[in-house]
Amino acid sequence: MDNKVINEYLDQWLRDAHAMEEQAETMLTSQAGRIENYPELKAKVEQHIRETQSQGQRIRTCLERRGSSTSGAKDMAAKFTAMMQGLSGTVMADEVLKGAMASYTFEHFEISAYRELAAAAELAGDAETKQVVDAILREEQAMADWLYEHLPQVTRQFLERSATEGSSAKR
Ligand code: MG
Ligand code: FE
Repeated sequence: MDNKVINEYLDQWLRDAHAMEEQAETMLTSQAGRIENYPELKAKVEQHIRETQSQGQRIRTCLERRGSSTSGAKDMAAKFTAMMQGLSGTVMADEVLKGAMASYTFEHFEISAYRELAAAAELAGDAETKQVVDAILREEQAMADWLYEHLPQVTRQFLERSATEGSSAKR
């Protein structure tokens, strides 16, 4: 087995993860800024923004320790975001729900990335990176779980508000 190849992939995927977190921060910040009438959802998104910033820093630290650096290229995450823009729904009446759907989907994109990174870090024998990506993975899973649990409640709030107050339900 060529350890060099494994380590090159590990570095590359850490750079991808770093770009992914930057993209996540951008998405979550714009989402949180638009939510007005769903305080619980807004608070959760804001909490995950802080977590996301910390994740980006932890990944950067892994890269630096490994003697690598972050990439300016954000292709993978940018492509994904472009794909998600159809779901982001900023002009839609139910944009708060479309935003929640996009977030739930993005968390799973992150989960899959960190599952792969964990396997690669383990195979490379990089225990510190393994520990970092496992910890981040748990945070992404917790965010996905929160969204899963709260989507029905946000949906009910949206529908009730739509039925009584009209367009203020939008966000
Ligand atoms: Mg993240
Ligand atoms: Fe996340």
